[in-house]
Amino acid sequence: MQDFINRLEKHEIEYTKNELLAKYTTWRIGGPADFLICPKSDLELQVVINALHENQIPWFTIGKGSNLLVKDNGFRGAIIKLGKEFDTFTTEGDVVIAKGGCSLVKLSLLVSKAGLSGLEFVGGIPGTVGGAVCMNAGAHGQSISDILIKARVMDERGNIITMNNSELNFTYRRSVLTKSKGIILDATFQMVEGDQQHISTKQAELKEYRMSTQPLKERSCGSVFTNPYPKHSGQLIEQLGLKGYQIGGARISDKHSNFIVNVDNATADDVLNLIQTAQKRVKEEFNIDLHPEVKVIGE
Ligand code: FAD
Repeated sequence: MQDFINRLEKHEIEYTKNELLAKYTTWRIGGPADFLICPKSDLELQVVINALHENQIPWFTIGKGSNLLVKDNGFRGAIIKLGKEFDTFTTEGDVVIAKGGCSLVKLSLLVSKAGLSGLEFVGGIPGTVGGAVCMNAGAHGQSISDILIKARVMDERGNIITMNNSELNFTYRRSVLTKSKGIILDATFQMVEGDQQHISTKQAELKEYRMSTQPLKERSCGSVFTNPYPKHSGQLIEQLGLKGYQIGGARISDKHSNFIVNVDNATADDVLNLIQTAQKRVKEEFNIDLHPEVKVIGE
């Protein structure tokens, strides 16, 4: 461990120890990480990845923690969160190149103001570009895989590779990165030039729909389960009368049954118990397996 710290300090890379991860997830749940590192550049990230690899320290990348459940005892190893320097994008004609830490909400808003259409559907997804590519985030019938041309990815040895759409192996809310360790440095999206007023109107409609159907003022992680096509997890849970069902401080939302909200200092255990309860009841009643969309990390 000391060698790892020495390497960070030699390269003047900032880190914090025992940082509570609850602060970094939209559920506001989760114990401490041994290390939290927010690299400012590709080069810093490379140093960090190499030092982690050589010291055999486990690590995990987070974005805005909007699809993440961190267990109560936290994460043994290092959490990497791309620094604010990665919260940017550029446009080249009808192509957008966004860095891995770029906010989706901001990206959607700003590219639409530039008269580019294609990213309206991510306007209400409170994550980063990296998290969205990893999860193949989607809404309103569209997903990231529909518009992504390529991504630059740092692998677990610190090599930078370019992966095109097919190499990322996108499926419903999954990509090759969901299980591997690559970190998205930036992603290139194909947009369509459109009428700015028309794009903004579409965005406003999507926002209104979301506000009327989702508990956006509460602490959640969005949909907890993927939908078992052609059924909807929320409908199955609701049919069982589990809407409003609460364990500890975690509750199945009254507004959307596929959302679990942190209403009163919920622990990760509370959420996991609710997840298991919903899975068990849905299996018993409908013989359907519900699979969590959210990633669970830690111990
Ligand atoms: P995190 O939650 O931090 O991480 C999720 C995964 O992405 C982890 O496996 C992590 O390792 C990986 N990851 C993060 N950054 C990187 C990176 N740079 N490189 C590689 N991997 C990375 N999701 C939808 O798909 N559609 C929705 O409509 C939607 N609505 C939501 C509404 C609300 C209110 C909330 C709270 C969440 C919603 N989500 C939705 C879930 C979530 O916002 C998305 O999955 C989002 O893309 C996750 O991004 P993140 O940066 O928060 O990733």
